[in-house]
Order: sequence, then structure tokens, then C-alpha cells
Amino acid sequence: MRTLGLPGLGALGVCFGQVVAIDSPRARKIGSFNWGATLWHELAHVITLQMTNHNIPRWYSEGLSVYEERRARPGWGDDLSPAVVRAYQEGKLLKVSELNAGMMRPRVPEQIMLSYYQASLFCELIEKKFGFERFRNPCCSSLKTSLRRRCSGPRSGGQRHPRAGICGLPR
Ligand SMILES: [Zn+2]
Repeated sequence: MRTLGLPGLGALGVCFGQVVAIDSPRARKIGSFNWGATLWHELAHVITLQMTNHNIPRWYSEGLSVYEERRARPGWGDDLSPAVVRAYQEGKLLKVSELNAGMMRPRVPEQIMLSYYQASLFCELIEKKFGFERFRNPCCSSLKTSLRRRCSGPRSGGQRHPRAGICGLPR
């Protein structure tokens, strides 16, 4: 399976929703990546993408995946680093509304990892302040909204979406 169009890019794993593509544990030099943490990260994406029908901001999905890594085992997931402290001191940390751009259109290369880490801190803050349910409820309501929108709109020829049978979700 091809995951990226360019050779040499450093993606360790990619999630397509229900399918995860990931380097094998021996694909890279020993100590260069944590295979278990990478798998855990991608599995968290499977859950968030499926719960939202892919209707979740990138920063939120990445933040939850990195946060899940940290919750899974000590040493997994991004952690406070000198780069984070330096970015903080220089006023270069991003607002939540800027995190998607920080991941997809970074102004400097290190902004990608900073954005992932910051997103995970926002997720950690949400859980500590409002509880775990705050994650699950928006994900479920996003899925319901998405499915209702897909199922209620007329398609070409005036027919309803063929998956209309799955629209019986509780309100
Ligand atoms: Zn990810």
C-alpha cells in the first residue's frame, strides 16, 4: 500500500479510518522509533475518525492520539522539551485555531511537532477540566450530525442516500 507520494518522508504510520499503514518494527534502525507508541497513536485515530465519520478537526484527532500515547505508558507520546520551552519564551506557541495550519502548513519545520504536542495539551486540559465524557459526546454528536446530513439530502435522481437505514440514531 502506498501511503505517501514522495519517498523519504518520515511518516511512521498513517490512518485511513478503518485501515492503518505502519512501518514494521524492524523497518527502521533500532531505537529510531517506538513501534508500540506509533501503533497506539494510529489506533486512537481509528477510533476518533470512526466515531466522527472523519468529521473531526485535524488538531483534535492528532491531539487525542498523542494524548492517548502519553496516557498509555510513561515515556510514550510527546513531552515537554527544550524546543517547547524555547517556543513559549519566544511567543511562538499557537492558538487552538492555528493548530491545523501548524500541522499542515508549518512556517518552520519544528512547528509540526510543536503543534502535535500543543494539541495534546489542549486535550489533556479538556479532560482534566471537563472529564472524559467531554471527548466522547462531541465525537458522537458529530457522527450523528454527519450521518443525518448525508442521509436526508436528495441525491441525483431524487433518491435518498442508500445508507439511510443507518440514520436511526438517538437524538
Ligand atoms: Zn496522527
